Amino acid sequence: MMEARYYEKTEEGAVCLLCPHHCRIKDAGRGICRSRKCHDGILYALSYGKPCALAVDPVEKKPLNRYMPGTYCLSLSCTGCNLSCRWCQNSDISQVAPEDVDSTSLSPEAVVEMCLYRGLPSIAYTYTEPFTWWEYMYDIAVLAHDKGLKNILVSAGYIEKEPLPRNSCGPPPPAKAPPMDACRRQRRNCPRRRKGRSPNGRTHDARPAQARKP
Ligand code: SF4
Ligand code: SF4
Repeated sequence: MMEARYYEKTEEGAVCLLCPHHCRIKDAGRGICRSRKCHDGILYALSYGKPCALAVDPVEKKPLNRYMPGTYCLSLSCTGCNLSCRWCQNSDISQVAPEDVDSTSLSPEAVVEMCLYRGLPSIAYTYTEPFTWWEYMYDIAVLAHDKGLKNILVSAGYIEKEPLPRNSCGPPPPAKAPPMDACRRQRRNCPRRRKGRSPNGRTHDARPAQARKP
């Protein structure tokens, strides 16, 4: 367990400041994402160093269309998500607590070493919501950046401004945030798409297909 980096102590426990839910967590309680637990007024990131999914994927699967095409990335995930979409393809790991699934112990250094050993140019934080394991992602991303690897974030983007990664979509975050080289919001959750504008700037008709027929 690792102490969380964005929270404040309260009389009953702690309030998590990582995402807009701002969960007020009592002692021994957990936040909505199930990944953060309060103990004696300290908030812990429960899944730090415990990835539940590890794979080598084509970068196009992230899905990035024109970013380092033809290359492969080390895809990594811990349990947890701060949303609960009905269509979630990974609900068996996004909607459970860290102790509910098999996981392995892997330090950030070991993740970066593994990536270098296999000759992979990038690491993708994916499958669940990487922001619910922010501390682990941050430590890996900084090490990977220093070694010349690229960081790819696949996220629904439901996060507060301060921990928002550098170079991702959205308002400019502070330098403390982790470095990201590519960012892809999961399509249906992207607020800009819902408002009729896609992240690439093209207009997007949000009406159902039936309604768009002439
Ligand atoms: S990251 Fe988790 S614990 Fe923190 S505010 Fe969001 S849902 Fe709550
Ligand atoms: S945001 Fe992504 S990981 Fe989370 S519930 Fe929705 S589809 Fe699943």
